Amino acid sequence: MDLKQLYREVILDHYKRPRNARVIEPSPGLVESRCKNPSCGDRVNLQLLLERGKLADIAFEGVGCAISQASTSMLTMAAKGKSIPELEALNREFRAMIVEGAEPPNAAVLGDLLSLQGVAQLHARVKCAMCGWSALEAALEHRAETNMDEDSSLPASGPEVS
Ligand code: ZN
Repeated sequence: MDLKQLYREVILDHYKRPRNARVIEPSPGLVESRCKNPSCGDRVNLQLLLERGKLADIAFEGVGCAISQASTSMLTMAAKGKSIPELEALNREFRAMIVEGAEPPNAAVLGDLLSLQGVAQLHARVKCAMCGWSALEAALEHRAETNMDEDSSLPASGPEVS
């Protein structure tokens, strides 16, 4: 099995068996945010439970393409237990890999997320991969909702740019 095939298997595994796909009961320290990516039909509702400045729990519900849902599932695995500055650093690391096509300098923190590296070459799917991350950023800033179509820092979706 070559690396591309292995990565495809990892993505499909997260898509078929999403990790932390559940709902956290309302409690102090719970923040949540929704992201939609209308050009593909992806939706993610992400919940973060923050306790003493750390991510004590994280969960999501979502619908959409394999890349959007797998990316969010992998995000929840990489994020749990991290402090807010560590979450921001993880977000920067992933964003640099997907949006700028950079070689991740701290690849180890990304774990399964490395399987999404190829998305950097698929401009039409960048917003899919970033949907859960956009919800993470929004939740940390206490914004209820983000729309990927309004994020001009990302390449436009659609077959003409792929
Ligand atoms: Zn998508």
